[in-house]
Amino acid sequence: MEYDYDLFVIGAGSGGLAASKRAASYGAKVAIAEGDLVGGTCVIRGCIPKKLMVYASKFSHLYEDAVGYGWSKVESHLNWEHLITAVDKEVNRLSQLHIDYLEKAGVELFKSRASILDPHTVEVDGRKVTADKILIAVGGEAVKPNVPGMEYAITSREIFHLKEQPKHIAIIGAGYIAVEFACIMYGLGSQVTLFLRGDRILKGFDEDIRTSIQEGMAQHGIRIICNIEGKSIEQVPEGLKVSFKEKVTDSAITADAVLVAIGRVPNLGKLGLENAGVEVVTCEDEDLPRLHGYSVNCAIGVDEYSRTSQPNIFAVGDCTNRINLTPVAIGEGRAFADTEFGNNPRKFNHENVASAVFTQPEAATVGLSESEAKRKLGDAVQIYRARFRPMFHSLTGADEKTLVKLVVDKNTDRVLGAHMVGEYAAEVIQGVAIAVNMGATKKDFDATVGIHPSTAEEFVTLR
Ligand code: NDP
Repeated sequence: MEYDYDLFVIGAGSGGLAASKRAASYGAKVAIAEGDLVGGTCVIRGCIPKKLMVYASKFSHLYEDAVGYGWSKVESHLNWEHLITAVDKEVNRLSQLHIDYLEKAGVELFKSRASILDPHTVEVDGRKVTADKILIAVGGEAVKPNVPGMEYAITSREIFHLKEQPKHIAIIGAGYIAVEFACIMYGLGSQVTLFLRGDRILKGFDEDIRTSIQEGMAQHGIRIICNIEGKSIEQVPEGLKVSFKEKVTDSAITADAVLVAIGRVPNLGKLGLENAGVEVVTCEDEDLPRLHGYSVNCAIGVDEYSRTSQPNIFAVGDCTNRINLTPVAIGEGRAFADTEFGNNPRKFNHENVASAVFTQPEAATVGLSESEAKRKLGDAVQIYRARFRPMFHSLTGADEKTLVKLVVDKNTDRVLGAHMVGEYAAEVIQGVAIAVNMGATKKDFDATVGIHPSTAEEFVTLR
């Protein structure tokens, strides 16, 4: 049967863009549909604008640190509107760049949402188009808890467009987004209160990482309120009143904005999955690899080749809720295209995926945490760990600490996990991740000469 396209991709985010361009490079006739700006969560309202705001938030700390090095005290304040406009301009530039890349690759773009009508037909832009294969790459969206007044709270989608900088922001959540924005907003000059329903941030990460970041955040001045149960949010003349129960006591604070970041769910509404028999796995039947406490919500069920229950329909990225990170979505998308259009069947490897938390202090990690390793290997786990004041702070007087940690299999001497909290952790761990992925042993680390003086050298001098 003749189809309009060899491949129709729904969603022009990281996974969809990578897959469509790779498939087109093999000569496939490809179309992609996107109802929002091209680029997806990472480019439009995630990694990229977030990282720009992280950069912006670091200056206030640097101004303070500079005094210890002899610079006069800097009195500076942020022009929020300037920052938001500059970030938005960069996001739009990148989105256009992705449109140009699609054009260059010969991928046809439909600037409209698409929904599935049957296994080979989608409805897009008021038209019915057919395709031999369909790839779903629709990403996820933030969820809000069911608490009265939640309509006043924003999510990470809206924070990049706040008209004014909140003087005081309340943040509810304990994952990547909550802790990263707590540090960003604090660095930008807002007062920050972070609400945790448990007593620790970043469930699933190595315990030392959790503790080090949380201590660092609190020491900088972020107020962290633990073991709370959210009660309500109300609009009052002074702002937004957040009422909560702390252990057994009822309390409330007033803030100018409330950010909720308690997880994300696949964006499956109005997609028409039921029209094509594409199965969705639920919390109960989900059996997908999960790392770092990723949320367990319903997702499109896929096999190792990202194939859904319908043989010609595939899904990649956050809508499959495997590891919800941009480079993973890109990797899954390319593996799909190589397999289906490049005559090169291959699976994306979900092992040893490194990730970073862009807090202050920053953290990054690859491989197994100490507790994961002990669960797997029992006593056969050796931990190497150093916590120290980084050289930069010897003159600033700040009580900042850097943590480096290796998790090693005693039997094989293999390094199973590497973790770091401190300046440039993401940059350092990216290199260490290559070694961990290649199966390096502790002896290999020891045989590597350090770069002196640096923080990274601690990874090859741990005793
Ligand atoms: P996460 O899934 O990372 O974390 C959400 C956390 O919020 C949970 O672990 C839970 O912690 C807490 N929580 C859940 N329900 C409630 C509730 N009702 N009240 C209070 N707290 C609650 O979600 P995020 O929204 O932070 O991030 C979503 C995704 O975005 C992640 O999967 C991540 O992959 C991605 N991301 C990655 C980044 C990076 O790589 N740097 C940056 C930003 C996002 P607990 O159970 O301990 O209470």
